[in-house]
Amino acid sequence: MKKDNLTKVVFLDRDGTVNPDKNGFINHPDDFELYPFAAEAISLLNKSGYLVLIVTNQSGIAREFYTLEDLEIIHKKMQDSLAEQGAKIDAIYISPYHIEGKLEPYNIDHEDRKPGLGMFKKALKKYNFQINSSFMIGDRYADIAFGKKAGLTTFLVLTGDGKKEFYKNRDSWKYKPDFIVKNLMSAVKLIERLK
Ligand SMILES: [Mg+2]
Repeated sequence: MKKDNLTKVVFLDRDGTVNPDKNGFINHPDDFELYPFAAEAISLLNKSGYLVLIVTNQSGIAREFYTLEDLEIIHKKMQDSLAEQGAKIDAIYISPYHIEGKLEPYNIDHEDRKPGLGMFKKALKKYNFQINSSFMIGDRYADIAFGKKAGLTTFLVLTGDGKKEFYKNRDSWKYKPDFIVKNLMSAVKLIERLK
């Protein structure tokens, strides 16, 4: 008999959700800092048994603002700061693509770029999680469209670009967020109550 699959995932956008998106592109670890609530929010998800996966559009790679190696160093800093506070990201998915970029082979339109579902499909193949018990949290419409297309419950956070996205563009949204919340911690508290 097949064992029930109980794996559940919380997908997190990075910039504007886990850390402030300072100048649009973070190209040095010195410019990377977590939001003060991020580690505690992620550790709550860890304790509740969710896999925590980051899905991040990093078109700065295609645009040659920074390299994949730079990004690795930045992500090591992120994981180290989280670890110091008892939290952990289980995996980080990156989309380096942008059609207006210069660097080959990343200067193309690609399904990996949110709202495309490439990163979701890779995660589903690896972790075979329950889609309808899983979540997406992000500050941009692309995060919401990604989550809704994938069948996830979605949270728009009002940190990062969230406020601007919501007030300026919400009337034109084809996909609406299931919840609009102050920040990552508010989203996590709501997830704990929805269980
Ligand atoms: Mg973002």
